[in-house]
Amino acid sequence: MKVTEHIKAAEGKTLFSLEIIPPKKGDSIDSLFNHIDPLMEFNPPFIDVTYHREEYVYKNRGNGLLEKKTIRKRPGTVGICAAIKNRYNVDPVPHIICGGFTKEETENALIDLNFLGIDNVLVLRGDSIAEEKTFKPEPDGNAYAIDLVNQVVGMNEGQYLDEDLQNAMPTSFCIGVAGYPEKHFEAPNMTSDLKFLKEKVDNGAEYIVTQMFFENQKYFEFVDKCREAGINVPIIPGLKPITTKGHMTVLPSIFHIDIPDELYNEIEKCKDNKQVKEVGIEWGIKQSKELMAAGVPVLHYYSMGKSDSVERIAKSLF
Ligand code: FAD
Repeated sequence: MKVTEHIKAAEGKTLFSLEIIPPKKGDSIDSLFNHIDPLMEFNPPFIDVTYHREEYVYKNRGNGLLEKKTIRKRPGTVGICAAIKNRYNVDPVPHIICGGFTKEETENALIDLNFLGIDNVLVLRGDSIAEEKTFKPEPDGNAYAIDLVNQVVGMNEGQYLDEDLQNAMPTSFCIGVAGYPEKHFEAPNMTSDLKFLKEKVDNGAEYIVTQMFFENQKYFEFVDKCREAGINVPIIPGLKPITTKGHMTVLPSIFHIDIPDELYNEIEKCKDNKQVKEVGIEWGIKQSKELMAAGVPVLHYYSMGKSDSVERIAKSLF
C-alpha cells in the first residue's frame, strides 16, 4: 500500500513510522531486526530505509603512498526493503538519491523495486561527497530532486529512457520528497526553497517528510507557509530523540537545524549521557504530544539504529 493510502485509511488518526539506516558493510541484518522488532507493537504502516552514497577513503599502501578508493559503507537499501516486507509485512520506503547515479542506474534500481512489489519511494538529491564543497551530479545523472521526481513520474506513465521501448510497463510509485522547516542550507531564503518544494509537488510528489526539528513552532510555521504557497499534500514531521551531549553540536552542523535554548540548557545540566537520554525522551514526548494534538498525519522518528528512546516515546503516545 502507498504511504498516502495509509494516511487516508487512518481517517485523521496519527500514525507511527520510523526511518532506519542500513547496517555498516560487514554487519549482519540481525542488528537491524533487533532494532525494529520492539517498535512493531506501534504498528508502523511503513518504514523508511535511507540510501548512502559512495565515499572516498585513503588506504595506506606503505612508503608514504596513499591509495584513494571509492566505497559504499552502508549498502543494502533495496535488500533491506525486501527483508522488511517479508519479515514484517510492512511497506518499506526506500530512499533514492540523485548523487552518484546515472539516470540509467536509477531506472534499473526502480525496476528492481517494482519487481519486488515496492511501490513507495522517497526521492532526494543527496548531499555532496564529503570532500566536495558543492553537489555534483553524475554526467548523465539527475541534478536536483525534481529531476528524479520527473524520472519516476515518467516511469509511472510507462516512459523509460529508451524511447524505442514499445508498451513498456508503467510503474506505480507513490513519491515522497523532503522539506525543511528551517530551510535547506543551500537555499538563499525560505521563499526560494518553498518555490522549489512546490515544483516537486506540482510535478508529482504526493507527500513531504520534514527534516528533524526541535521546536514545533517551526514546523507549524512551515506548514502554514506551504499552504499559503499552494502546497496541499500531507507534511509528515520528522523527529529525532537526542541521546548524547555531542548531538548539541553534531546535529546543527550536519543537518543545519537549531537546538532551542530550553533544550540546550536542560542538556547542559546533565552529568552524563544517561541523563541526556532521559531529557531527549521527555522532549520527544512533549514534541510528539503537541504535534499529535495538532492532528499531524504521521509521527516519523529518525531512529538511527537506536530503538529504546523511540520505543519509550511511542509508548506514551500509541
Ligand atoms: P532538492 O529538492 O534538489 O533541493 C536542494 C537545494 O537546491 C535546495 O536548496 C533547493 O532550494 C534547491 N533547488 C531545488 N530545485 C532547484 C532547481 N531546479 N534549481 C535551483 N535550485 C534548486 N540524503 C541521503 O544521501 N540519503 C538519504 O537517505 C536521505 N534521506 C533524507 C530524508 C529526509 C526526510 C530529509 C529531509 C533529507 C534526507 N537526506 C538524505 C538529505 C538530502 O539528500 C539533503 O538534504 C540534500 O542536500 C537535499 O536533498 P533534497 O531532496 O531536499 O534536494
